[in-house]
Amino acid sequence: MNQSNFERRYSPLIILGLLALLVLVSGLWAMDRSNNNDNGSNQAGHQGDGTEVTATADDDVIHWKMVTTWPKNFPGLGSAPENMAQLVNRMSNGRLQIRVYGAGEMVPAFGVFDAVSQGVAEMGHGGAYYWTGKVPASVFFTAVPFGFTANEASAWMHYGGGLELWREAYAPYNLVPLAGGNTGVQMAGWFNKEINSVADLQGLKMRIPGLGGEVLSRAGGTAVTMPGGELYTSLQTGVIDATEWVGPYNDLAMGLHEVAKYYYYPGWQEPGPVLEVTINKQAWESLPADLQAIVEVAARAINQDMLDEYTARNNRALTELVEEHGVQLRRLPDDVIVALHEAADEAVRDLAASDPMAAKVYESYKRFAEGVKNYHHVSEQAYINARDLKDARAASNEAATQ
Ligand code: CA
Repeated sequence: MNQSNFERRYSPLIILGLLALLVLVSGLWAMDRSNNNDNGSNQAGHQGDGTEVTATADDDVIHWKMVTTWPKNFPGLGSAPENMAQLVNRMSNGRLQIRVYGAGEMVPAFGVFDAVSQGVAEMGHGGAYYWTGKVPASVFFTAVPFGFTANEASAWMHYGGGLELWREAYAPYNLVPLAGGNTGVQMAGWFNKEINSVADLQGLKMRIPGLGGEVLSRAGGTAVTMPGGELYTSLQTGVIDATEWVGPYNDLAMGLHEVAKYYYYPGWQEPGPVLEVTINKQAWESLPADLQAIVEVAARAINQDMLDEYTARNNRALTELVEEHGVQLRRLPDDVIVALHEAADEAVRDLAASDPMAAKVYESYKRFAEGVKNYHHVSEQAYINARDLKDARAASNEAATQ
């Protein structure tokens, strides 16, 4: 009875009190959310160099250095490691902060492998084929002439055993590798004379690094290696007759159209080069599982993001090169493509025979390539041909009636 009186008397007050409490709590929650959003946008890269966040007490923060083979903020290639550092910072709420160093800032471009191996830096970003002298198999993890496209390479890495083999190849060097970017199919390069037959390759002095250079030499040319910064002057002064670099987006920025007449495609030498993230093994093992997952996901994100960026920007740059700068776009003749392909098969076979790990990786690469090639005959390749068919037929009908 007393209890019931109490309820009748006080229940309106209790309900009002509860309502007031609800309003207060939701207000606090909204404030908290907007604070978090403010932090979120700061973490997106507008504080200092974009890699410092203060959301976490400093005691819990892990600071890593990432050395790269690219000039600081180099378009595409150099923005990928910066993007990765920012993603890791944001996903870890500032618990793992990575500071990115351009080539030469901490170690020279070609010192990245050793620096990460020795723990001078915890991470690196570059291309595995730069380390062919130490790890002959590394070519397969970057680009093989007439090998995988970007999609195929990524499929082999993540679903075809490629990444496991890469880890095995790098284990003796205290390194854990991850795929960290792809430029997509490159261009065959810039030439000052037309290439109409295999005879035109004889004595051709061309800057073309890695296995592509080996292939050109086997086909009668002379392969030269030099850093990107020297290409413009070397072409201008005739030190070289031709050069490959990347594709329209990067080549336009370099001004190569000012010193060469013909722009050839397709980039048989680098059809889908994979870039690498390397992590010092002890540093990797010291990370808790959630931060390891964050690093893996961030690498996977930049791997795709770089390809998207190149696909979008190459398009625009190629249009500008042709329409505004009058660049002569040329396709390599079939005979030249076949001759280069034959030389590439030999070069890859010889590379595999030179080293047991390279032989093991080559087996896996070859098996995957045969399967994916078969499938792409009826998918990617068949579709792209089918998409062009209507316009091709219309063009040939128009030509026939003229
Ligand atoms: Ca290249």
